[in-house]
Amino acid sequence: RASSDPGLDANQIQALFACQREAVERDRARFGLRDRLDSLTRLKITIKRREGDIISALASDFRKPEPEVRLTELFPVYQEISHAKLHLRSWTKPHRVPGSLGMFGTSAQVRYQPRGVCLIIAPWNYPVNLSLGPLASALAAGNTAIIKPSELTPATSAIIRQIVEETFPPEQVAVCEGDASVSQALLDLPFDHIFFTGSPQVGKIVMAAAAKHLTSVTLELGGKSPTIVDSTADIDDAARKIVWGKFSNNGQTCIAPDHIYVARDQARNLVDALRREIRRVYGKAETDQKGSPDYGRIVNSRHFDRLSALLDDATSHGALVLEGGTRDPAQKYIAPTLIGGTTHQMAISREEIFGPVLPLIEFDDIDSVIEAINAGPKPLALYIFSKDAAAWEAIIARTSSGGVCINQNVVQFLHPNLPFGGVNNSGIGSAHGFHGFKAFSHERAVLRDRFSVLRLLFPPYTPAVKRLIDI
Ligand code: NAD
Repeated sequence: RASSDPGLDANQIQALFACQREAVERDRARFGLRDRLDSLTRLKITIKRREGDIISALASDFRKPEPEVRLTELFPVYQEISHAKLHLRSWTKPHRVPGSLGMFGTSAQVRYQPRGVCLIIAPWNYPVNLSLGPLASALAAGNTAIIKPSELTPATSAIIRQIVEETFPPEQVAVCEGDASVSQALLDLPFDHIFFTGSPQVGKIVMAAAAKHLTSVTLELGGKSPTIVDSTADIDDAARKIVWGKFSNNGQTCIAPDHIYVARDQARNLVDALRREIRRVYGKAETDQKGSPDYGRIVNSRHFDRLSALLDDATSHGALVLEGGTRDPAQKYIAPTLIGGTTHQMAISREEIFGPVLPLIEFDDIDSVIEAINAGPKPLALYIFSKDAAAWEAIIARTSSGGVCINQNVVQFLHPNLPFGGVNNSGIGSAHGFHGFKAFSHERAVLRDRFSVLRLLFPPYTPAVKRLIDI
């Protein structure tokens, strides 16, 4: 199909699903270790060959800078593939588990088996990373998969489809491009697992649809990830990392620091350091920043208008622009922006910002920060900049979030052995490495009776049996 093709209709989607279902039934054994390794290798080879096209597509979709494509789209997928290939033999081995006294005479194993036909719904903000990364985990676990990439990054979605078509037969992996209506048609089908990355609002729709078939789900969602900078923090170091974490991908990162709580005695230092860092990285003058090849754009006008409205609402309620603030709707450009004086009444304090606008909130007492965090939905990430181990341990103990980074932000995503995921409103289940493999596997319990004593407890329940059961 041509890249401008609007996609498959509901009947074609159903036929595609049926052909994957049949492949799973027919070839259950085919997705053995060797086939899985081979699929992963082929996927990596095709992506490598199409790197240039991926870079151009992301530049055309939202002016994503090439180094950011390499670091945040390609590297995580390559790492997911290499890590899976390195460990797949041990992951797929049945794991023996020890028993208890009552289980004497039995042997028990956990076997990770493919779930079957899986659906991967991806967002637009890291379109390659968040479609082909989960695909690597799905393939490692021996599944077939249908990917639904986002309609907001059409050039990249087309390349993703081409990569898949060049690498796999449709009964193993296929891509259905299109908007929410395509998602809906897919969600009507009885998939064996759905791996969804996107907003909490759509996550609820996906989970409700999955409930109809009791399909298992992994939900990788979003939310407001707070950052705490306390009195002991190394301010220059924090500013350097936060500017990178916040303004990469133009702030459109699920785990970007959404807003900062800064100790009042450090607030001025932090604002100065952030301002210096923004100007060092993206340029001193407004025109330099706008022209910086390292600064991307908002994905579309709807999101530009949403961010503009958030900024206007904040400033009309008394928030101060401390840096940046300029916008150009024609280019979907918003300068790297710092704001102060936000209050709970402002929409920016409630909604996920998902753009290059960073509010700073001063605090006197860490208890008030913990209270504010706990009053909202559980975030995907929590960042703490501090030199005081007791302070960060207390924050971790008294709050909840998908993950935590101490004296860093965002990079937890890149760690191959950490589970990546949210908690409640920010997600259910986790991805990456073994955790991703597990998400796409059924953890099957296999018990074998060898000479178990359990038969001594069978009826008739004589006094002797009852005495044994009492124990
Ligand atoms: P989104 O929820 O709008 O869309 C995600 C996918 O769902 C897209 O493919 C879209 O076509 C589809 N979709 C949209 N409406 C639908 C509907 N009514 N029914 C079925 N499917 C529908 O999210 P987005 O704007 O693409 O991405 C931004 C959001 O994703 C943010 O909230 C961000 O925090 C979150 N996110 C989370 C992670 C993570 O790993 N946890 C990563 C990236 C983004």
